[in-house]
Amino acid sequence: MHLPEYVRQCVDALERLGFACYAVGGCVRDSLLGLVPQDYDLCTDALPAQIKTAFADFQLVLAGEKHGTVGVITDGGVVEITTFRTEGDYADNRHPGWVKFEKSIEADLSRRDFTVNAMAYSPSRGFADPFGGQKDLENHILRAVGDADERFTEDALRILRGVRFAVRYHLKPEENTMQAMLSKAGLLDHIARERVFDELCKLLPLVAAKDLLNFGPILAQVITELKPTMGFEQHNRNHSYDVYTHICHVVEAVPRELSLRWAALLHDIGKPGTFFMGEDGQGHFYGHDRLSADMADEILRRLKAPNALREEVVFLIAHHMMRPEPDKKLLRRHLSKWGAQRLDKLLLLQRADLGSKGVPGKTLPFEEIRAVMDEIAAENSCLTVKDLAVNGHDLMDLGLSGQAVGNCLNTLLSRVLDEELPNEKSALIAEIRRMYL
Ligand code: ATP
Ligand code: MG
Repeated sequence: MHLPEYVRQCVDALERLGFACYAVGGCVRDSLLGLVPQDYDLCTDALPAQIKTAFADFQLVLAGEKHGTVGVITDGGVVEITTFRTEGDYADNRHPGWVKFEKSIEADLSRRDFTVNAMAYSPSRGFADPFGGQKDLENHILRAVGDADERFTEDALRILRGVRFAVRYHLKPEENTMQAMLSKAGLLDHIARERVFDELCKLLPLVAAKDLLNFGPILAQVITELKPTMGFEQHNRNHSYDVYTHICHVVEAVPRELSLRWAALLHDIGKPGTFFMGEDGQGHFYGHDRLSADMADEILRRLKAPNALREEVVFLIAHHMMRPEPDKKLLRRHLSKWGAQRLDKLLLLQRADLGSKGVPGKTLPFEEIRAVMDEIAAENSCLTVKDLAVNGHDLMDLGLSGQAVGNCLNTLLSRVLDEELPNEKSALIAEIRRMYL
């Protein structure tokens, strides 16, 4: 395994003093997979005070010192060095009640969640892999270290981490591990919502439809509103999938961007609550866009999602049934109201939605709409009040004041958007005179 120079220097600094020092966890796993690790974590039998002494000439990050972690700021970035440790007495299915510093690398590896994450490498001592992580990686197996039930009971967040690792590295959970992930999923209720949200945000950009189908029961544990969508038949000739299967395909079909992935996951969550069987023998879901948007708002508040993300997701869901057309005036209005970025995302969601019904049907004239949007952008069109060829001062110079100024600007914008007026100062002023003076 190759260690970059700045990491190698940290390892050597401790080894020179007679301590053992290993690269551990994600960086070993990723190296074995031929991937470039995002960062390198080190572990050692040196105690935190000894690590601090060894790196006395460096700037240190000491926020994790209590748990044995010292961050060393090198020219290649921060390298976290953690004393070998075990932990136990997990309160609340997440936080260890005690941490004990250890002398052996094997003890340290035994506290880690999955065998593929429980490997270490030292340039002088070689690989430490007491749980067969390398073999599991070769065989594409996700396996809990030790007793799976126990490990997920200690810390239930490991269940969601497991889903993420399985998806990211195409690992199949070994039978006991999968059983335990399912049977202990209820303990996820005890995990702080922020942590659950963080994990879901790491997971969503990675998933394909089949992953969401495989791990559906675990997802439904943290987003209970998904449960009724699973197996919910739509009884509609335009849909061959049940609601959840459709959702899974839409998630896969939108780009790997967070607000789009969340919007796709939640866009039809209101369908079971709005279903009715029409006299035509077809299932209908009138108002499901509004209900789904309201439910998404509640879910994302519960998960403590940042406001900006929540608002964008709710917007996308609330508008996902609107069918835009390649019509310049109409699109200019949308662009004026929402901006190009949002309209773009909305189109991507709608295209994915229409393309994921399992039967051929209506499609979105996506390319045509995009072409018209490009035309509008190229024309440098007036889309907001700020783009108008007159401003508030011009209006006040003409004798308008107070509310009338804002109202007048909005009226002018509306007429310019509709191509009833050119965005030219003389024409706008003539119109103001005609309307107000
Ligand atoms: P990523 O690429 O997502 O950062 P990673 O494996 O580096 O993957 P981290 O969350 O950075 O994951 O954790 C580093 C290592 O610490 C893991 O590889 C694992 O050995 C251990 N670890 C992290 N979280 C847990 C946990 N909740 N339970 C047990 N071991 C854990
Ligand atoms: Mg990491």
